[in-house]
Amino acid sequence: MKRITPLLAAMFGSSLLGVTAHAQDEYRIVDEPLELTIQMNHARYPVYDEEWPVEKEASALTGISLKNDTVGANMRTDENSGKTEALNLMLASGNIPDIVGSSRLKDFVNQYGPEGAFVPLNDLIEEHAPNIKAFLDERPEVRSAISAADGNMYYIPYLPDGKYGRAYFIRYDWLDTLGLDMPETVEEVEEVLRAFKTQDPNGNGEADEVPYFARQWPELIRLVTLWDGRSSGSDTYHDFYVDDGEIKHPYAGEGYRDGISNLARWYEEGLVDAEVFTRGSSAREYLLSENLGGMTHDWFASTSGYNRLSDSIEGFSFKAFAPPASVSGKRIEEHRRIPIKPDGWAIGHTNEHPVETIKYFDFYFTEKGRRLANFGAEGVQYDMIDGEPVFKDEVLNSDQPVNAQLWGVGAQLQARGFFQDYNYEKQWSNEFALEGIALYDEGDYLIDQFLGVAFTADEQKIYDRYWPSIRDYMLERQQGWILGNGDVMADWDDYMETINDMGLDDVLAVMNSAYKRQYD
Ligand code: CA
Repeated sequence: MKRITPLLAAMFGSSLLGVTAHAQDEYRIVDEPLELTIQMNHARYPVYDEEWPVEKEASALTGISLKNDTVGANMRTDENSGKTEALNLMLASGNIPDIVGSSRLKDFVNQYGPEGAFVPLNDLIEEHAPNIKAFLDERPEVRSAISAADGNMYYIPYLPDGKYGRAYFIRYDWLDTLGLDMPETVEEVEEVLRAFKTQDPNGNGEADEVPYFARQWPELIRLVTLWDGRSSGSDTYHDFYVDDGEIKHPYAGEGYRDGISNLARWYEEGLVDAEVFTRGSSAREYLLSENLGGMTHDWFASTSGYNRLSDSIEGFSFKAFAPPASVSGKRIEEHRRIPIKPDGWAIGHTNEHPVETIKYFDFYFTEKGRRLANFGAEGVQYDMIDGEPVFKDEVLNSDQPVNAQLWGVGAQLQARGFFQDYNYEKQWSNEFALEGIALYDEGDYLIDQFLGVAFTADEQKIYDRYWPSIRDYMLERQQGWILGNGDVMADWDDYMETINDMGLDDVLAVMNSAYKRQYD
């Protein structure tokens, strides 16, 4: 085991050493240095890097070092399949490291934890993790959301901070050019989109404007909320939602039906991008930089960044506006950051130091540990100014995005259980994003999220048997209706009958039994 003091002094300079030496006792977990093995699966960091500055500082403070023992790390399949494959491979190898950190860990530990592969954390947290315990006491919905069907918690999650994700964006300068007011209702949105289509706001003499566009086509379906429908209950597209304590599916509701009917009409009229289902992720970049796109629903920070186009497009102003009122007068923003992700870390069943491990997990919920997990190393990525961590200029002004720089030093890892600090992101959000967030904050438009359920083995079987084919059918019909293949109003009764015949009621029954067990 290395004595870290001289090494850290060399790496970080003397100012950090002072902090470290002082804090060492406060955060020390073990007298003798202890090594724990870790499997880490994430598309952005497929192994745990023992050289990360964050690992080095955590080791110096706690006395515990993590040693990479990742099975399947060299499998670079696509982002979606690779991660679960690596976990399955680890399980099949019979070698579960002391700690398993991964994206999409929740369903995995909730399935194999009760079978004995992972250590239940409830008592360990109660007895040895005062900071995690305090967090869960304050946020009981987090405790419910991470509990498995047997009532035990098997992982400590990554907990995003900051409420706001997506917002409605529109060309403010086009409204000005055409002498239009900001649309406040769904009817006014339709008038504005029609004016964008027919009145040449980009001034080139052609009807080439694309009034509503989206990088992700489900952001077109999102607009059913303007007819009191729903498109998802969480930050995952097409998810179930909670309606007055009951789990429902958005694509079986009448508001959805009415919304799809109107969106099909908008599509036919050219108010929606004709290529909305196929244009893909470059839609925003292309349609804004070509001065063609009028309105979208997308992330605050990255979308606000396009105001840099005012350098090349005179007057360009693409900013957030408040959610328009629906047909019944409701203003909601359906999308928000989910407060708990299915990512995080767990303790493998052969771990001989579960108490030390939960204390180590708890370290990242202390002020010092949380700062380390969010901002990287003091004196390297950030300095403390007036008691707050502030990124160094070279971090903020680097060509590499701030979050990517932080992954590179072992901070902001979603495969680590930690509580994100939104201030980390606020420091590099532009003024238009912050202005938009303030607008949404003032209006209080966000709605509660569905935080997911943990099935028993029997419930899981029902869900797996019926749900995938129902979902495929729903999406196929949805796209068909928008494109003019069939009329949703005429087809609706047959559609509802079909999805019920396919087992929707059974799926909803297991969703609701799991939900009530977990959250009541
Ligand atoms: Ca034009």
